[in-house]
Amino acid sequence: MTKKIQKVIIIGSGPAGLTAAIYAARANLNPLVFEGLQPGGQLTITTDVENYPGFPDGIMGPEMMDLFRKQAQRFEAETFFLTVDKVDLIERPFKVFVGEEIYLTETIIISTGASAQLLGLESESKLMGYGVSACATCDGFFFKEKKVLIVGGGDSAMEEAIFLTKFASSVSIVHRRDEFRASKIMQERALNNPKIDVIWNSTIESMVGDPQNGGLTGVVLKDTLSGETSELECDGVFIAIGHTPNSDLFRGKLDLDEKGYILTGADNTHTSVDGVFASGDIQDTVYRQAVTAAGSGCMAALDAEHFLENNPLD
Ligand code: NAP
Repeated sequence: MTKKIQKVIIIGSGPAGLTAAIYAARANLNPLVFEGLQPGGQLTITTDVENYPGFPDGIMGPEMMDLFRKQAQRFEAETFFLTVDKVDLIERPFKVFVGEEIYLTETIIISTGASAQLLGLESESKLMGYGVSACATCDGFFFKEKKVLIVGGGDSAMEEAIFLTKFASSVSIVHRRDEFRASKIMQERALNNPKIDVIWNSTIESMVGDPQNGGLTGVVLKDTLSGETSELECDGVFIAIGHTPNSDLFRGKLDLDEKGYILTGADNTHTSVDGVFASGDIQDTVYRQAVTAAGSGCMAALDAEHFLENNPLD
């Protein structure tokens, strides 16, 4: 029996993947969506989304992604809480390996997004989940009336610092320079919050504590100007230093930039393999917003649709 060949398989389920699913489904391409390790993507670990048009009062990230998914399913996109293990892009139909199954498809839309970066310290991995976290939204609740640190100087660090003040007694932002890269409005909100202070020109050298005995108790800070180190007691450390693209599946199979982001055309979502498209944070090093990810998901579905029209398999 010959195996069914799908028109489109979408890998990833953030705003990019699910918007691609809505458009591909409405074009009768019956997309399959493999949602991956974090169904709904990064927005499922944020709180209020205030800048997505159409929601004047804001909306919670997880709720917004549920709405995206429902909208895709309404047009009969099939979504699966499954992770793609491997892809074969050598010839069409492409092969997508999911557990024991191999799916064949004429086109693929990659929307695998990016994941939180860590400092890379041994003590950090030892204490991860025992006072150290990369997700304030997920873990902030556990730090009621505690003293916490947040590492980073971008919008994520500001946003998470502000969020953590809902629980923590104090929040110190540890930043390696003497100015933030965060947008002015986010900086102002953080700096004007009486529970937040900033430890400038500092990095975390190591984290102190025993995972089996109370978890994190403090950190060793290093002054980036003088090189001096000092200990600081705290109950929690939140890492908010940016993201790494989730492109391991495609290494050696598609052209990536030096950081691992998938390279796409200047004004389209075509990758270096015809019939494979990329959208959202996996190919965006500049804007990285939910609305831009959704926009590029739409572009990828339209690009796939045109490609299928012009490149029939038979
Ligand atoms: P980011 O803008 O890349 O900022 C990362 C921060 O972490 C920088 O301040 C960087 O320091 C610091 N950092 C990086 N590696 C470090 C290390 N090893 N040790 C110590 N510090 C380190 O990342 P982001 O804050 O996650 O934001 C990513 C994108 O999403 C941005 O475009 C941002 O505007 C957007 N975003 C928007 C919102 C919003 O609008 N509500 C919320 C979150 C994110 P340096 O500054 O010294 O490089």
